[in-house]
Amino acid sequence: MDNNEVKCPKCGSNQITAGKKGFSLGKAAGGILLTGGIGALAGLHGSNNVEAFCLSCGAKWNPAKRFEEEKLKEQQRKEDHEKIWKNNFYKAIENGNENLANEIMKRENPNSMYGTDLKHTYSNLKKQDESNATFNIIVMIIVGCFILFVVSKCV
Ligand SMILES: [Zn+2]
Repeated sequence: MDNNEVKCPKCGSNQITAGKKGFSLGKAAGGILLTGGIGALAGLHGSNNVEAFCLSCGAKWNPAKRFEEEKLKEQQRKEDHEKIWKNNFYKAIENGNENLANEIMKRENPNSMYGTDLKHTYSNLKKQDESNATFNIIVMIIVGCFILFVVSKCV
């Protein structure tokens, strides 16, 4: 994804202008033509008061909100990607396919941030996954107890 290109979410045009919320098409013509990317746009005056406007199709949207949404989506994509390659790596190790495991690590781990020894990396990643899962379960239990507590007080 290229963050530095502002595009209309509806028609894909890059003829975008921006202004304060509620500005009209007439005023939009005198608005700022965007060159600094959606990030710069999101940083404009208190961000939530700024609206982007497409000169091609007339679509209006909140660039700050959209920027946040894009960031979340990107984060989700990264997490999904990580889940997939880790699972493939686990399977490769569990099936004794070291060549495949090596390939996956070379592709996904260029800075050796997960370590270089395959077996060691495998157990480290597994441990990480398990502690994440445990943490999620604990959070769920706490939230569950809290809800039960609130409900029992109300009845
Ligand atoms: Zn448009």
